[in-house]
Amino acid sequence: MPSEFSGKHVTVAGLGVSGVPAAKVLHGLGAHVTVVNDGADERARTQAAELEALGVTVRLGDGAASDSGSAAGLPEGTELIVTAPGWKPTKPLFTAAEQAGVPVWGDVELAWRLRGHGGRKAAPWLAVTGTNGKTTTVQMLASILAAAGLRTAAVGNIGVSLLDAVTGDTEYDVLAVELSSYQLHWAPSLRAHSAVVLNLAADHLDWHGSMEAYAADKGRVYEGNQVACVYNAADRATEDLVRAADVEEGCRAVGFTLGTPGPSQLGVVEGLLVDRAFVEDRHKNAQELAEVSDVNPPAPHNIANALAAAALARAYGVPAAAVRDGVRAFTPDAHRIAHVADVDGVAYVDDSKATNTHAAEASLAAYEPVVWIAGGLAKGATFDELVAGAAKRLRGAVLIGADRALIREALARHAPEVPVVDLDRTDTGAMPQAVREARRLAEPGDTVLLAPACASMDMFTNYNKRGDAFAEAVRELGA
Ligand code: ADP
Repeated sequence: MPSEFSGKHVTVAGLGVSGVPAAKVLHGLGAHVTVVNDGADERARTQAAELEALGVTVRLGDGAASDSGSAAGLPEGTELIVTAPGWKPTKPLFTAAEQAGVPVWGDVELAWRLRGHGGRKAAPWLAVTGTNGKTTTVQMLASILAAAGLRTAAVGNIGVSLLDAVTGDTEYDVLAVELSSYQLHWAPSLRAHSAVVLNLAADHLDWHGSMEAYAADKGRVYEGNQVACVYNAADRATEDLVRAADVEEGCRAVGFTLGTPGPSQLGVVEGLLVDRAFVEDRHKNAQELAEVSDVNPPAPHNIANALAAAALARAYGVPAAAVRDGVRAFTPDAHRIAHVADVDGVAYVDDSKATNTHAAEASLAAYEPVVWIAGGLAKGATFDELVAGAAKRLRGAVLIGADRALIREALARHAPEVPVVDLDRTDTGAMPQAVREARRLAEPGDTVLLAPACASMDMFTNYNKRGDAFAEAVRELGA
């Protein structure tokens, strides 16, 4: 079937999770596809061979992804670039594209443009972004939509890829879409049905260049929203982004709060999640959606995630009972405030996914008193605010990993009375020792919380492995 891509010269920048499917789809639509990729390792060569067998041109070791250098010119005849979302906007390849008037799309933009392709139903998108809580919220949202009998999927960085969701054989009524700030940067024409920015804290600033640029990219999720722009009433920056957005006539700003909701908000009243936005006469009425105890786990930030998911579902017209059923049916992915075990009256909780200070702040706020296991790669973060905020809840701290001195110094400044164990080892025995030290510090009724506020790669392959090591060490305690 002829398409707008037939005969078009498209350069796909980067192999990998988004590049390979993008190249295949575009090739299938009749485009002349050239893939450029810097690396030429085993995996890249296998992927390249697979694409070349289809008739796609692949240039490995191309230099296109480098931050400087002359190899970054546009391949001959390029009319469109489809880039891997992680590629920095400052790369010479993109400067060259701009000079030549060649548009640059990310994988999300491509997926957005391909909605409804081949006579399929173009399912609307309910979009979720934010610094933390995206995956959890998108999964809760998909669970709620499914409970309402809708054909749906959680897509984006998780589960089904966006391209598969819009071009595959399964038809959807509505999609719950997780979007990163990088993806939003490269998605100029995306127009979601409704969207939420869950929260905004400094992250990925090296990529975006500044906090303003990062916020602006997150804020793109609200552009052109049709029904609701959902914001976090406790995070002014998210509300400011709604105000700055250009939306469809009649689209509403809807807040979520852990307090009592005002009109046009969802919030919490006497242990219930309550909707005062999508009800008749919101000045007088409120609709009960679910009990706080239906949220798993009922930590404050996770209740906020549930409210955000509920707001998007309600914007789509989902009835209250389906919100309750969907919230109840949801179980979080591993390593996100997962309760591992109780040993001698002490709860052990794995939040290995708390890889930045904003996430760790949220999980520390959920427990008291807490013995905190923290540390790893700080990625340029500072810990003063985090430690000062958590100081009075801390029974003790056990520090691991390369940048633990930064946390130790912050503890000395803001919580000098809190006992600290500083583990000067990074071998595989470090985690069991950390857990044993935490047990020594804890008293019955306390929580030992792994919320490292740091990346894991100094000691582990990834945050999953770090969480697994913690859980294993806890099981050894109980043995
Ligand atoms: P993301 O997809 O944005 O990385 P996840 O749902 O995977 O988010 O959660 C990552 C971590 O962020 C969790 O382990 C938890 O520590 C923290 N977190 C989850 N929701 C929130 C929230 N609403 N606010 C702050 N931190 C959160």
